[in-house]
Amino acid sequence: MIHYKTSEQIDILRENAILVSKTLAEVGKHIAPGVTTKQLDKIAETFIRDNGAVPGFLGYGGFPATLCVSVNDMVVHGIPDSYVLQEGDIVSVDCGTIYKGFYGDSAYTFPVGEVDEETKQLLKTTQESLYIGAEKAIDGNRTGDIGHAIQSYCEAKGFSVVRELVGHGIGKDMHEDPMIPNYGNSGSGKKLREGMVICIEPMINAGAKEVYEKKDGWGIATADGRKSAHFEFTVAVRKGKPEILTTFDYINKNKEY
Ligand code: MG
Ligand code: MG
Repeated sequence: MIHYKTSEQIDILRENAILVSKTLAEVGKHIAPGVTTKQLDKIAETFIRDNGAVPGFLGYGGFPATLCVSVNDMVVHGIPDSYVLQEGDIVSVDCGTIYKGFYGDSAYTFPVGEVDEETKQLLKTTQESLYIGAEKAIDGNRTGDIGHAIQSYCEAKGFSVVRELVGHGIGKDMHEDPMIPNYGNSGSGKKLREGMVICIEPMINAGAKEVYEKKDGWGIATADGRKSAHFEFTVAVRKGKPEILTTFDYINKNKEY
């Protein structure tokens, strides 16, 4: 069942979206060789609570942390631990908040120091595919229009799209209908309507699309061990032009020094 949001509810979702966006930027400032993923988690939890909100992932389905931190071949749902980041790693940071009874959700994959050329292309392509997919979040389009845009863009660059995990609606629950696959056919799937707020989150692999679940019951990793990238926006479906509620502007500002 799809829960359509009032403009007041979208205002609250926007507040959440800005807070997760700022949290990702705060975490990003600390990403460097020598830092553990557990340290990043603590930074995020403190930042979210200092801003009067609650971590959205902590305790969700039993998840034990504020962030999902997924390094290199990990696609998503990595549990922060004692792993020490190294030069050349990539680290997907996925963050959720709860504020005024609604959720926020956004993700960004950061390079640790200098990464190789293929990895740069993977990060660039995945982020670009998110913008290209988000442009399709228009009243009257269908979920397949988003998925098709992401899939065709990434596959043309030689990368592959994870099938097992998809985007979702968001509101009083973190995961609401409809599902937003990152693959599919134009004109197929659920119709998008004004009042829907959705999370679009391409998970793109450098190698083959196959993934497996780690023994901890959470982490998802590529079957071939090659790198995977993940970027996520929360988007309000509008007539004519979508409204992206989250932003990477805070992250990008930190790069300008
Ligand atoms: Mg997320
Ligand atoms: Mg999500």
